[in-house]
Amino acid sequence: MPMSAQTTSILKMSQLFAPTLKENPVDAEIASHRLLVRSAMMRKVASGIYSFLPLGYRVLAKVEQIVREEMDKIGSQEMKMSIIQPAELWHESGRWDVYGPELMRLEDRHGHGFALSPTQEELITSLVRNELRSYKELPKSLYHIQWKYRDEIRPRFGLLRGREFLMKDAYSFHSSQESLQEHYDEQAKAYGRICERMGLDYRCVEADSGQIGGSVSMEFMALADAGEAELVYCKCGYAANTEVAAAVVKPTQYPTDKMKKMHTPIEGTIAALAEFLKIDQSATVKALSVKDTAGNIAVLFIPGDHELGEIKANKAVPGFEFLTDEEMLDAGLVKGFMGPVALPDGVRVIADQSLKEIPRWVVGANETDFHFVGAAWGKDFTVDDWADLSTAKPGDLCPECSQKLDQARGIEVSQVFQLGTKYSDAMQACYMDEDGSDKPFIMGCYGWGVTRSLAAIVEQYNDEGGIKWPISVAPAEVILLPMVMNDEAVLAETDRVAKALAERGIEVAVDDRAERAGVKFNDADLIGWPYQIVIGKRGIESGELEFKQRSNGEKQQIALDDVVQKVFELIDQERVRYL
Ligand code: ATP
Ligand code: MG
Repeated sequence: MPMSAQTTSILKMSQLFAPTLKENPVDAEIASHRLLVRSAMMRKVASGIYSFLPLGYRVLAKVEQIVREEMDKIGSQEMKMSIIQPAELWHESGRWDVYGPELMRLEDRHGHGFALSPTQEELITSLVRNELRSYKELPKSLYHIQWKYRDEIRPRFGLLRGREFLMKDAYSFHSSQESLQEHYDEQAKAYGRICERMGLDYRCVEADSGQIGGSVSMEFMALADAGEAELVYCKCGYAANTEVAAAVVKPTQYPTDKMKKMHTPIEGTIAALAEFLKIDQSATVKALSVKDTAGNIAVLFIPGDHELGEIKANKAVPGFEFLTDEEMLDAGLVKGFMGPVALPDGVRVIADQSLKEIPRWVVGANETDFHFVGAAWGKDFTVDDWADLSTAKPGDLCPECSQKLDQARGIEVSQVFQLGTKYSDAMQACYMDEDGSDKPFIMGCYGWGVTRSLAAIVEQYNDEGGIKWPISVAPAEVILLPMVMNDEAVLAETDRVAKALAERGIEVAVDDRAERAGVKFNDADLIGWPYQIVIGKRGIESGELEFKQRSNGEKQQIALDDVVQKVFELIDQERVRYL
């Protein structure tokens, strides 16, 4: 924001369309959803679809502008691609079928199929494949900020998981992995700056690349209890989504040096087994029977105090599914008492790599009411494959520095991917290399959830009274609250201060409605303007105005003559924190 003064227009509450609400919307489970509706930032249109009212739209525009400025800084070029995309493109990439019911589809009057864009890899790849020809034109990075459509199975939490949402998506095209890595690193740095400018407390985490594809990926998580993602993090800076974290798990060795069969007449759960044997759950081994897409059966073994990570399991057993009770019976597996010793023929044993650390395990005996303690791998049974299978949890060790990991919940505000040639191969998008040969573009993609960011900010900046916007995204920087609207002196002073601040480039709002003081105070807190100036008869008489900072509730009295200069300085300082 330029420091030079440029007069801003003054927002008048009497004219604004800002119908604040006293009651929480019935479908709102989390603070950001409740407060964004109550503060008249937005209104629901249908499940997961919202309209932004003037105040919310001002915030949205600021969030969007921060993202835009950081993209422009790293040389990504803004464009605007269409929302509606021909089905053929999605057939070419193979995602028309893979994307499933999340893809919103429609037909035109001629029966041609289209999709409402959930993401833009197909369209942008088709765009550049005929237009970017030579290695000399690479790298290129392009982005747009556009509405996206996903028919989410569970739209909820207001802007967090919508069916229509605003996304910034950037795509980059390269002729070498080094060039991709360089831009990917710049995007990640830009994402860090975007979080900081929005005031978000965040972590950058290792992630799975999911539907989009590719191999290398990181997510930016705004820490919040309302977040749907779980992450583990370390003091050293390491952080990862628990789904994929390479945490070091430490199972406990059962104290014995030979295998012994034990009668364990218990309900076949880990908790019951641990209690029966009087050992910690981490000294037991959990068994889960699964099959791959071809129907091959395997039993997965993980430390008893951990859960199976489904993304990890899918890497070890592609397309894995758990066996039903019936399938277990058919395969000769005994539910609740499965173990690696004397498994039926053809059943593979895949074990979590952490179990390598303990030579002897406590496992089922493949016989109802019996377990083995001290079963030694490589001796009493064979492990066919070792794999990373368990979901990380607090107390596991950091893979980088071996300190204990902590856990938090997070809102994924953005994700960066190295796609490689997944889409350029599928869609035959090539450039001509130095040696004259055709090569597929090496691609990256970088998504930022613009509307989701609003919800993430509110989750981190709210109290019982309402929102506490960081100054960088607030609908205006300061609100003046004239306590009465029928007093000449109050009105004159309000006018003077508003104009003087606006002339200095401060964004000013005035609550000039003929409302009681209590209503104005409540609405000001609810809407979340960063600063409030109270202008009342008594204050004017005593020569002082009350100034309140919404973020910490601190109040101070400022002399009439100093108000403009002091407020200007405070706001200017606060702005600098978010540059
Ligand atoms: P999620 O795992 O939360 O469904 P995703 O991995 O599907 O997200 P991407 O395809 O990477 O998301 O999309 C980029 C960004 O778009 C996300 O980081 C998120 O900020 C935003 N986003 C994705 N889905 C939604 C949604 N349903 N509502 C609002 N924002 C979304
Ligand atoms: Mg998704």
